[in-house]
Amino acid sequence: MRLIDHYTAHFVDSFPASMAPGVLYISTAYSTAGHICPCGCGREVVTKLSPARYKIIFDGEVSLKPSIAATGLPCKSHYFITRGQVEWHKKLDATQTARAQSADQRATAAQRAATQNARLNRWARIWRRFRG
Ligand SMILES: [Zn+2]
Repeated sequence: MRLIDHYTAHFVDSFPASMAPGVLYISTAYSTAGHICPCGCGREVVTKLSPARYKIIFDGEVSLKPSIAATGLPCKSHYFITRGQVEWHKKLDATQTARAQSADQRATAAQRAATQNARLNRWARIWRRFRG
C-alpha cells in the first residue's frame, strides 16, 4: 500500500464492504464518514459526524475537521484532510493519546447533555402549556 495524499468525496447510503483508498465515504443516513488510513496501513478509519465530533465541509473538495488521530490503529497516524489534501501532523505520544481520547469523551458527553437539556426544555414548555 502506498501513502495516500488526496481524498475524493463519495456520498453513499452505507459504506462498501471494502473501501477504496483515496475515497472519503460520507453516509448522511448514518452520519458517519469512512476512509482508508493515508499512511498505507490499509486500515479503515470511521468517524462519527456530529457537533461534538467530526464535520464534513464540501466545497467541491472535501474537508474533514478536526484532525484525525487514529489512536485506535497500530500506526497512530495523525493528519488533517483539508480540501482533499492530507496534511500530516506529529504522531501523538501516549499522554497526548489519552488526552485526545478524554477530550473526545468530554465533547461527546457535553453534546449528549445539551441534546437531553433541549429535550427536557421542550417537555417543560409543553407541560407549562397544559398547566397554564
Ligand atoms: Zn495507518
